Amino acid sequence: MSEPRPTDTSSLLARLEGVTATELVLSGRRQLSPSLIEVVLSGEVKDLAGQPGNDLMLAVPVVGGDGSFRRRYTMRSVDPERGELVLWIDSTAGGPGSRWAAGAPLGSTIEALGPRGKVVLDQLADWHLFIGDTSFLSAAYAMAGAIEPPGQALFVFELEDPADEITPALDESIGVTALFIGRSGRAGDDPAGLLAGLGALELPEDEGAVYVGGELRVVAAIKSALKERGIADSAIQAKPYWRLGVANQAHGEPDKS
Ligand SMILES: Cc1cc2nc3c(=O)[nH]c(=O)nc-3n(C[C@H](O)[C@H](O)[C@H](O)COP(=O)(O)OP(=O)(O)OC[C@H]3O[C@@H](n4cnc5c(N)ncnc54)[C@H](O)[C@@H]3O)c2cc1C
Repeated sequence: MSEPRPTDTSSLLARLEGVTATELVLSGRRQLSPSLIEVVLSGEVKDLAGQPGNDLMLAVPVVGGDGSFRRRYTMRSVDPERGELVLWIDSTAGGPGSRWAAGAPLGSTIEALGPRGKVVLDQLADWHLFIGDTSFLSAAYAMAGAIEPPGQALFVFELEDPADEITPALDESIGVTALFIGRSGRAGDDPAGLLAGLGALELPEDEGAVYVGGELRVVAAIKSALKERGIADSAIQAKPYWRLGVANQAHGEPDKS
């Protein structure tokens, strides 16, 4: 018998505490904006839900693959009663994850492992700043939706296409500041746009929490800039989602070497 691989379901379940594997049905898809595809998955979603900001590891198909290849997507919303969850997937990458999101037949099934991820809302913070690119919108809006009134949500996002601007719809009692910056031809690993946006942003007083997601080098540059601005390391949750020019690894994480 062959040895289990690290991305086999049994290996993942053995080492990831609190995670379950569930077969879900692709029940809906719509083009939300030029880059973002909204995908609806149906089934027993209750145990996958976790907290806003958590993600799923999907066994996306690859030609000649063995079914153990993973891509991670943050849950935009989960409705256990309807047995549905929603993902927002940036389809511009063109790898196995994007191809699945754009082309898998409705009614097909996919294995989802979850809940995964450590970036969740800090309920003790007075204000929350979300910084990233289109791939981080799902996580940002899911977490922002969990802010208790009278909290404050700030968004600084860089978009490849200005038409990807999706206005956050939050409770009226939440103060919202949203800054969308066009990429204007800059490379995906160039942090200049988001750094300029962050520089232009006046941060509220009191205790804040910052959440960063997107390209590996951009996430690192934003984290450094936040620290230079006096934000404590403990108040920053930063997660690289992808790396320019390098496909994510079979377990779904960008290559950090
Ligand atoms: C914890 C976690 C949560 C995530 N949540 C989400 C989410 O909610 N929504 C979402 O869209 N993605 C999310 N991602 C990223 C996602 O998992 C994939 O990396 C992404 O969809 C690309 O996968 P792929 O198979 O299409 O491309 P890959 O095979 O990984 O890469 C193919 C090529 O595309 C490039 N590329 C990858 N991503 C992008 C991008 N966004 N823009 C431009 N070029 C890119 C790569 O540099 C590479 O050259 C998350 C990642 C992690 C680690």
